Amino acid sequence: MLEDGTDVSAETSRRLSCDAGKVVMKHDSEGKILDVGRRTRTIPTAIRRALTARDEGCQFPGCGLKFCEAHHLKHWADGGETSLDNLVLLCRRHHRAVHEEGYQIEHASNGELRFLRPEGWEIPYVPPAPSLSEDPIVSISALLVEDDVTIDSTTGFPRWDGGWLDLNWAIQGYRPL
Ligand SMILES: [Zn+2]
Ligand SMILES: [Zn+2]
Repeated sequence: MLEDGTDVSAETSRRLSCDAGKVVMKHDSEGKILDVGRRTRTIPTAIRRALTARDEGCQFPGCGLKFCEAHHLKHWADGGETSLDNLVLLCRRHHRAVHEEGYQIEHASNGELRFLRPEGWEIPYVPPAPSLSEDPIVSISALLVEDDVTIDSTTGFPRWDGGWLDLNWAIQGYRPL
């Protein structure tokens, strides 16, 4: 339950408590409060700093967003440690995907992380999009010049002359591949 009384699902509360301030209240069997602990972070500042230095941004394939939450691979409520080995940075969107939408993250045998879709298919590694800090037109033009690509008014025209598909020729062309 959130502070304003809104009920949320168990997975949502796990997501919110993955990286949050925490005050532990102990209740007796009748629900009376026995003890209220000090407010602490679920992720101490030093570990958080080391995690940000290691991951730099969201680790979900292809994302790389800088503004992130820390995720416990094995949640602390299930006894998971708050150590670098058990933590990964995820943006809010991908943190939700992992807790509430069935995406999974696991350690591969080589120690790297594997990201799986809800059906269990692995999401392949995708490099984060390059950050275009300056004017994007200027940056993209510079990348094209670097790769020796010229774009002019005819770039979008197909080279096809409108003739019929020669299936035999096409198969002969593909067969060696
Ligand atoms: Zn989490
Ligand atoms: Zn992300």
